[in-house]
Amino acid sequence: MDLGKMFIDGEWVESSSGETRKILNPYDASVICEVAEGTSQDAEKAIAAARRAFYEDGWGDTPAYERAELLKKFADEMEANVAELARLETLNTGKALIESEYDVYDSANILRYYAGLVTKPTGQTYDLNDPNVHAMTVREPIGVCALIVAWNFPISLAIWKVAPALAAGNTIILKPSKTTPLSAIKMVEMREKVGFPKGVGNLVLGAGAGIGNVLAESMDVDKVAFTGSIKAGREVMRAAASNVKGICLELGGKSPNIIFADADFDTAVDYGLYGMFYNQGEVCSAGSRILVEDTIYDKYLEKLIEGAKKIRIGNGLDEGVRMGPVISEHQMKKVLEYIEIGKKEGATVALGGYRMTGQEYEKGYFIAPTIFTDTTPDMRIVQEEIFGPVVVIQKFHGEEEAIRLANDTTYGLAAGVFSNDLSKALRVVKKLRAGITWINTYGPVYPEAPWGGYKQSGIGRELGIYGLDDYTEVKQININTNVCPSEWFD
Ligand code: NAD
Repeated sequence: MDLGKMFIDGEWVESSSGETRKILNPYDASVICEVAEGTSQDAEKAIAAARRAFYEDGWGDTPAYERAELLKKFADEMEANVAELARLETLNTGKALIESEYDVYDSANILRYYAGLVTKPTGQTYDLNDPNVHAMTVREPIGVCALIVAWNFPISLAIWKVAPALAAGNTIILKPSKTTPLSAIKMVEMREKVGFPKGVGNLVLGAGAGIGNVLAESMDVDKVAFTGSIKAGREVMRAAASNVKGICLELGGKSPNIIFADADFDTAVDYGLYGMFYNQGEVCSAGSRILVEDTIYDKYLEKLIEGAKKIRIGNGLDEGVRMGPVISEHQMKKVLEYIEIGKKEGATVALGGYRMTGQEYEKGYFIAPTIFTDTTPDMRIVQEEIFGPVVVIQKFHGEEEAIRLANDTTYGLAAGVFSNDLSKALRVVKKLRAGITWINTYGPVYPEAPWGGYKQSGIGRELGIYGLDDYTEVKQININTNVCPSEWFD
């Protein structure tokens, strides 16, 4: 394996144009390595290989048990190499090493979860109004799937797609973000060690507008599963219309974390911080709007600020660090721009609001944990996804206002409710237009439970049984046991 190459039809290859892209460490802007910058020709080759592996070589016809065994071995490989893989992820993303390690173990669990699930029966039989016809459904793989993912959780986002897609018997072309391809390259090396047939799992590298678009538009791709921004999600959706391919879109969020006065106070503060500043706030489901009931507003804010000041920020590879730099100079500028927008709109910077400089922060893309107060629902910083360590606080009075404010964005990915009154918490959660909700916790992801958004946060679900279903077609089979002519035209 060469850290800089793509994997197409069982071979590690350079870009057909010979072009490469420098991959940076966001901690100090140093170059880690160069990787191939794929072209549309490379994408076409990967698609052709995946098509052959599915339609001619018969990967989709292999017994589920065999595919499951391969996935389990892949999971073992990931776990056996957790240190190397996690280190690479942290180098490339800046995130705390403990997070990268967690992502490796979690991804291995997801591989095993789908290895187990795919061997369980999923079809149905039907009692028809005709006793002579026996009807049933079976689940079959879709075919060639393009898997396009974002840079914030490169290992996890890839595995959320790779595991169910391969388990169900599809062949795949994975395209990681152009900024964070390193862990994907390493994972393909691990996967190939365990013996997947040629052409089943392909990896292409490069920009979304180029190679990503070729995948989404191709008449020879049967499904595209995408994680990224709403803007790119719309483009993917348009491109996918070419052959009416299946789509799954996991898009952005501006998720409310509602804190009622009767919540366990320390837990609510803790998850306010965790929900927002985990992974530098570069989390689609981040609790980036904390809605606090008016009677505890001042006390909550004081403790939140106190907690945010204590976050250890630095090189993700250093022991004890819990927050690293944001992913790139581009993203840093975008976040700083939002901070300026917030100030101009009249919100108050209660904490942070600047790029961190000096000493170990000098060369990297560090932004101080930032808390905005005195916000109004119409502000852009309240409505738009910032995707960095910036949280806006909103004050509310009572259940009704909490629900109204919580639902007042175009997003609908996640939401949290903190209250010791579980009837109230459940009542509120049921009114929230969001696909993932938590009561008295914020942020955990479970392989068994479906993940995905309402409204403009996406289409379809990943993880859980729904996550496997989304990589299958449903076939209806009707067997007539009373074999005789219909005599319709007689
Ligand atoms: P992005 O939309 O810029 O890119 C995501 C991926 O799509 C990249 O691989 C990119 O190269 C590719 N891409 C971009 N334009 C494309 C096009 N026209 N056709 C095909 N592919 C294209 O997003 P990003 O900046 O990498 O990631 C951040 C976004 O991802 C945030 O909005 C975040 O909320 C979202 N996200 C969502 C989830 C979720 O589960 N809902 C998880 C993680 C991240």
